[in-house]
Amino acid sequence: METELFIGGKWVPASSGSRFDVLDPATGDVIASVADGSEVDAISAVEAAAAAGPAWAATAPRVRSEVLRKAFELMTERASELAKLISLENGKALVDAKGEVTYAAEFFRWFAEEAVRGEGVLATAPSGANRILVVRQPVGVCVLVTPWNFPAAMATRKIGPALAAGCTVILKPASDTPLTALAMAAILAEAGAPEGVVNVLPSRSSGKVVSAMLRDQRVRKLSFTGSTEVGRTLLAQAADTVVNTSMELGGNAPFVVFADADLDAALEGAMIAKMRNGGEACTAANRFYVESPLADEFARRLAQRMSGLVVGPGTDEKTQVGPLVNEDTVAKVDGLVRAALDSGAEAVTGGSRPEGPGYYYPPTVLTGVAADAPILREEIFGPVAPIVTFNGEEEAVRLANDTEYGLVAYVYTADLSRGLRVSEAIDAGMVGLNRGLVSDPAAPFGGVKQSGIGREGGHEGLLEYLESKYIALNW
Ligand code: NAP
Repeated sequence: METELFIGGKWVPASSGSRFDVLDPATGDVIASVADGSEVDAISAVEAAAAAGPAWAATAPRVRSEVLRKAFELMTERASELAKLISLENGKALVDAKGEVTYAAEFFRWFAEEAVRGEGVLATAPSGANRILVVRQPVGVCVLVTPWNFPAAMATRKIGPALAAGCTVILKPASDTPLTALAMAAILAEAGAPEGVVNVLPSRSSGKVVSAMLRDQRVRKLSFTGSTEVGRTLLAQAADTVVNTSMELGGNAPFVVFADADLDAALEGAMIAKMRNGGEACTAANRFYVESPLADEFARRLAQRMSGLVVGPGTDEKTQVGPLVNEDTVAKVDGLVRAALDSGAEAVTGGSRPEGPGYYYPPTVLTGVAADAPILREEIFGPVAPIVTFNGEEEAVRLANDTEYGLVAYVYTADLSRGLRVSEAIDAGMVGLNRGLVSDPAAPFGGVKQSGIGREGGHEGLLEYLESKYIALNW
């Protein structure tokens, strides 16, 4: 497969000639070496995107739509090889990787459909003196920065709406998972995206490369998915050139189970909300709050389900939980669990890092976790479920909101009016009510508080790449 930079429709080596290694998280072995883009390459990519911009913006929406539709079809045809690639560089189990490919391809299909629904506004001014015409125009050149945990879906969730809107893009993928991004570039080129419309720039110098692009006045949009920490830095940088930003940042999802909940459904939802992608998801349930009467049984049965999962290399068909992506991630998970155990928590299952190669961590359930434990404050990003008990609706909402994050929350109850009341009271951009999965290309995905700004997917996702221009007119 291609391992060079993709700039202006061509595969090119890094201007410095340097390359970096991509590792297999199951073994730590090198699986590929990829061109290492520099600031010089970043500016070449901006040039290519800026040059392609006017023609792409003027391309008929139907034609832009068909490029995305074709990309959806190619991804679907090649789902199995793409899933293997994702699993190989990210470590996730094939079953999760296949799910990701389907989810990722759906963003191309959804935005192929949205591309031809370009609406504006025509209104009469309240004074009656004139008409108000509002047209939507593409923002312009977009820099897209994506994380390693969903290397395909986080890219298509940005590229889909950007191309539908008539923008051109430079995708800077996470350096742990550049291969999937390069495969996306090849698919989009084959689908008919003209030269320069999509550029992909793997780099080990992400900070420098992204800063260089943000300083370039031709760049008009930054869409970032990643940690809140890096998001803050990029928001500050984007302020210098007043670049339009969308931020999909970290999460710390509460999973609230009321005593009247259907326990089987809550356990099923918990397994999905916690274990999809091995826990390496911004939407992963991070804190389980279970009402006292159900808490012991919930913990026992969750531990039973978690301990039955097959852990192994992601590329093995039998595997249900692959290794974590890298050493830093597994060390962080291990540190959070140790700190919780040191302050009195009990591991009902799992709880210690195994010896041997690869970045494995066992599915773990903790009870008796102290309210101030770091594991309840920080994103775990691994297969660990800390359980805390509560009593009553008021306490549930207070605990759920006791975080700087606000991406998603999960609520299980048989009382629909309580479910809706609590859903409205929790500070989060999304709520799964009696459901452990919220992600859907047709729905607006995003967070409040320090989980981000803006929405991806749904109708809102397209608007992030459009500017509203108002024309006052008389006739
Ligand atoms: P990260 O460290 O913030 O990295 C995200 C991306 O930013 C990567 O491409 C990274 O490149 C790049 N980057 C790192 N430092 C940078 C800098 N100073 N300037 C510009 N770019 C920089 O996050 P991650 O560890 O890859 O991903 C996990 C995080 O993503 C979690 O916090 C998770 O919650 C969040 N996430 C959020 C959503 C959402 O929709 N809200 C979805 C998925 C993930 P390198 O790889 O080269 O460092």
